[in-house]
Amino acid sequence: MNQASTSLLSLSIAPARVVRGDKALAQSGEAIAQYGNRPLIVGGEESLTTNASYWKPILEKQGMEYAIAFYSPDCSEASLATLREAVTTHQATSIIGIGGGKALDTAKLLAHQCHLPVITIPTSAATCAAWTALSNIYSDEGAFLYDVSLARCPDLLILDYSLIETAPTRTLVAGIGDAIAKWYEASVSSGNSTSTLIIAAVQQARVLRDILFQKSVEAIKQPGSDVWREVVDATVLLAGVIGGLGGAQCRTVAAHAVHNGLTHIATTHKSLHGEKVAFGILVQLRLEEMLLGNQLAVTARQQLLKFYGEIGLPQTLEDLGLGNITLAELQAAAEIACNPDSDIHRLPFEVVPQQLMAAMVSTSALGDRNLVEKNINIG
Ligand SMILES: [Zn+2]
Repeated sequence: MNQASTSLLSLSIAPARVVRGDKALAQSGEAIAQYGNRPLIVGGEESLTTNASYWKPILEKQGMEYAIAFYSPDCSEASLATLREAVTTHQATSIIGIGGGKALDTAKLLAHQCHLPVITIPTSAATCAAWTALSNIYSDEGAFLYDVSLARCPDLLILDYSLIETAPTRTLVAGIGDAIAKWYEASVSSGNSTSTLIIAAVQQARVLRDILFQKSVEAIKQPGSDVWREVVDATVLLAGVIGGLGGAQCRTVAAHAVHNGLTHIATTHKSLHGEKVAFGILVQLRLEEMLLGNQLAVTARQQLLKFYGEIGLPQTLEDLGLGNITLAELQAAAEIACNPDSDIHRLPFEVVPQQLMAAMVSTSALGDRNLVEKNINIG
């Protein structure tokens, strides 16, 4: 009997319940009330104010005694300490996270720490945070520190298309970048796994990639349309399914490691999570080209560059607003991305910071084969 058959695996595949539709929130009062009458609302100050007409009347109609708390300055240990006090003071019966990835990650981890049910209400399609049993922790300055696996996925996810439609298009584009990374990362990190659920997760990641290749351009042009909804479902729901099915063996690789390193450069805070991850996919493929001579990676990167051009994802450091960073900053980001615990080491070859820096500055390069041909022509 091998170890795999004796170890106990706990699966957190999906939220207990997912409600979706136009004005889904307006119809979810009773579903929310099932988790108690004293919710603590967690979100960003600006977002909660802007979206108040969506969530406030519902809670008031149910006669709920809610309190509001912000996750400022970031989804950080300090914010969580303050929020735990707010839970105690309010005697909260549930946590309701309303907002983007960081708001939802904070709400989920807070609920996990306080053993309370959690309801996630995404206000954009920028990540699958509303679905997953995972939270990313940042410093108060916004630098990625580590992630935490949670005991389970949210108790209730409310996907309200009318609310998501109010978010800037750029958030959906970023969500496409984060979701498409599932294929490039899962197919590498799962290795040659023969596990049924891992194989299923990797295949779903391929389906997700194909849906995004086929529908993203049209979806971005027509917010609120059927195809737009299909792409929102892909970034918020299907991306979450893959994380849930695949679990720890189907996690992030170099694309997210590059994101994590970049968050330590203050100027990257203007770009969204999925934008940095999208750039990170190009870096990952570039590493496979440079260090393995992988021609499939060359083809995949050229295909992505074209796709990014069509939908507005960043192709280079310049596109991320990092055209003027110093060598020292680039090196610091590369060293963080290569630290011993980093998921970059899930790549089937070793990567050192210098190689990573070389990949980061050449994401839009022609394929190596083309470069060789060019050199021959010049020579
Ligand atoms: Zn991500």
